[in-house]
Amino acid sequence: MGRSLYTKLVLIIMTLIVAFMVVVGAFLLHGVRSFYLNQFYEGMQTVFANEELADSLRAAADSDQAVEGISEILKANIGRLGIDSGSRNYYILDGKTGEYLTGSNNPEGGIVNTANILTAMTGASGYKSDAAADFMDVAIPLSGEGGSYIVYIIDNKATVQSLNGDLSRIILQAMAIGLIISVLMSLLLAKTLVTPLQELTHAAESVASGDFEHKVDNPSRDEIGVLTQTFNDMAGTLEDTLDDLKKSEQMRKEFVANVSHELRTPITSVKSYSETLLDDPAMDPEMRAKFLNVIVNESDRMSKIVQDLLTLSRFDAGSIEFEFTTFSFEKSVKDVYSAMRLEAQNHEHEFTLEFMSAMPEIVGDRGRIEQVLMNMVSNAIKYTKNGGRIKITAGAKNGTVWCSVRDNGIGIPRQDVEHVFDRFYRVDKARSRESGGTGLGLSIANEIVLRHNGTLKLDSKTGRGTVITVTLPVEGPEHE
Ligand code: ADP
Repeated sequence: MGRSLYTKLVLIIMTLIVAFMVVVGAFLLHGVRSFYLNQFYEGMQTVFANEELADSLRAAADSDQAVEGISEILKANIGRLGIDSGSRNYYILDGKTGEYLTGSNNPEGGIVNTANILTAMTGASGYKSDAAADFMDVAIPLSGEGGSYIVYIIDNKATVQSLNGDLSRIILQAMAIGLIISVLMSLLLAKTLVTPLQELTHAAESVASGDFEHKVDNPSRDEIGVLTQTFNDMAGTLEDTLDDLKKSEQMRKEFVANVSHELRTPITSVKSYSETLLDDPAMDPEMRAKFLNVIVNESDRMSKIVQDLLTLSRFDAGSIEFEFTTFSFEKSVKDVYSAMRLEAQNHEHEFTLEFMSAMPEIVGDRGRIEQVLMNMVSNAIKYTKNGGRIKITAGAKNGTVWCSVRDNGIGIPRQDVEHVFDRFYRVDKARSRESGGTGLGLSIANEIVLRHNGTLKLDSKTGRGTVITVTLPVEGPEHE
């Protein structure tokens, strides 16, 4: 591709130069020729229109020795007439037959009767110019008592032809130099035009084969520079998209594996307990009640997992409708606090609530925000040993409201903190399961908060405790 573009460039530039030279040459050659022609005829007319010369020629024609007389006069004027006895000559011809009588040289083969001579034979001056002919001539008739004659001046155009020959040589030389320059220019153009294009092609081939490392460096701001930049951007975007795709494919696989695993555990328990019950009709009622209880609990767990999964998949599909209203965030926090007090008491936790500032009303989906708060508090209760301290604080700042739940519970190892919002992620599966967790609570909470254009942040230290904070814009998501 580079090669053919290069060849095209060379051909275009060469054609341009040749065309330019041909046009210029044609104009020059034509210009020189017509200048010469004009100069000849105008010069002759001026000379022969001169009264003095005309009078003396007429006087010579009247004399007995007319031919000698006229010849003398013409000789005396060879400078004005441009006679050089080479390319330009004068002749005196017989006025009736056009026969050669005398002249500045002796014409080999006589004088051909040209159109101008024929005109002069009729008594009129022959000044007609013929650009196509290879000579220029004028024939002036002279009649007197000494006879009738024709003064004939002829130029064989040798001067103009040799001039045009020189000119043609110069033009050809210029053309040759132009062609050499055109090759050099094409090389230069190829360097600035074709090379970056070739680099781009290589990079595109690399990208096509899945290698995104190959970036093209072209700092220029011309069209190719912009194209290169756009290409690099495109390759970058493509790489990111591909990475995202790979990641989400990986996440999808993990998610499916997790869901299957999470559902298989309760199903297995339900199946084995039911089979035991069926196999042993004589089981004592206390044991039977215990087994049935396990079955009910496991079914509840399954139904909760399915419910949570449904909620998450609706978030993903964007098909969940939020009901945004203006409500008191303060009241929601208080309601959640009241609702969880009994649970906290059951675990003998010291459970407090404190507002740090006056609280504005906010725009949001009240039910879902309370679901988030509930999840934060219930996690604090679940993951803190009995008799712990759980403290809720809330406040307002810079157009946002926030609520923190701090506990002095088991905490989360540093490497796990960033994963707690991932689906099914649980630091201690057994403990989460025991307390009825699914590992989906914080994922759902995070989705809800993001839909409100808010943030959910968790900070924790193993063995020391955890603080989780939700921040929401007062104006709701639309005004962010
Ligand atoms: P789960 O249903 O298991 O509680 P969540 O999504 O609510 O699921 O939480 C994910 C995991 O984060 C939990 O399993 C737990 O390991 C950890 N976690 C959440 N909150 C706390 C907390 N306050 N203290 C310690 N660990 C927590």
